[in-house]
Amino acid sequence: MVLVLGGTAEARVLAARLDGVPGVRVVSSLAGRTSAPVLPVGESRVGGFGGVPGLVAWLRARSVAAVVDATHPFAARISANAVAACAEVGVPLLRLQRPGWTAGPGDRWHPVDSADEAARLLPELARRVFLTTGRLETAPYAHLDDLWFLLRSVELPTGALPRACELLLARGPFTVEEEIALLRDRRIEAIVTKDSGGALTAAKLTAARELGLPVVVIRRPEVRAPGQVGDVEAAARWVLAGG
Ligand code: NAP
Repeated sequence: MVLVLGGTAEARVLAARLDGVPGVRVVSSLAGRTSAPVLPVGESRVGGFGGVPGLVAWLRARSVAAVVDATHPFAARISANAVAACAEVGVPLLRLQRPGWTAGPGDRWHPVDSADEAARLLPELARRVFLTTGRLETAPYAHLDDLWFLLRSVELPTGALPRACELLLARGPFTVEEEIALLRDRRIEAIVTKDSGGALTAAKLTAARELGLPVVVIRRPEVRAPGQVGDVEAAARWVLAGG
């Protein structure tokens, strides 16, 4: 059995790519954060494993042959747990991580290492901010009383919110035209994003470039897996070669 740690489009594409391949059994794992997750094709399980010990026990009980960690680039805890658990059990592990975004001509990016650093920088850049870092990461901006925020997330935020803030519940992908219209309509002066990478949510960066807006880009946490690939086909080849 191959365990695919998921919660991303790449994980779903990998599960679909391997579905039905003779001799390959894939189980996709989701954290269970969203109430209406997009389920992958084939077998899946939902919920945390219970830290490294729980994941170790899970891998052992099912004689898992290989693990592909296809979780989001910012899901650092599960990725670190996978590194530790696979090393302990002796199971091959591959990290499938989409490449990060790179700034091009005309981009006004401000790379930072954390949401706290982004919050410290924002008052120098703008009064009206488009926050696209997800519903779980609003607290670092909650004290910025002099700024106005447009906060877009798939589900309602659960943490502390800034005093002046509009919530926009929406799931991408969004087109560049839609993003430009939104930025203009809300008179946005700066955007905050994580360096998630991928095409699905990149339109906001193109829109920011076209409007000349600064973008605060939160860098990825670093988790070192034994092997890493950037695209689904390479991960599928690794699985089919036996991990
Ligand atoms: P995280 O901080 O790395 O993980 C927190 C805990 O959630 C882990 O310790 C683990 O619990 C459980 N978990 C996470 N991913 C899991 C998975 N695929 N299967 C089973 N358990 C999982 O993760 P996160 O940032 O909260 O992200 C949660 C999920 O949402 C991930 O699957 C990720 O791919 C997806 N996602 C995250 C982001 C983001 O920006 N962080 C964006 C889009 C999608 P135990 O320790 O109990 O095993």
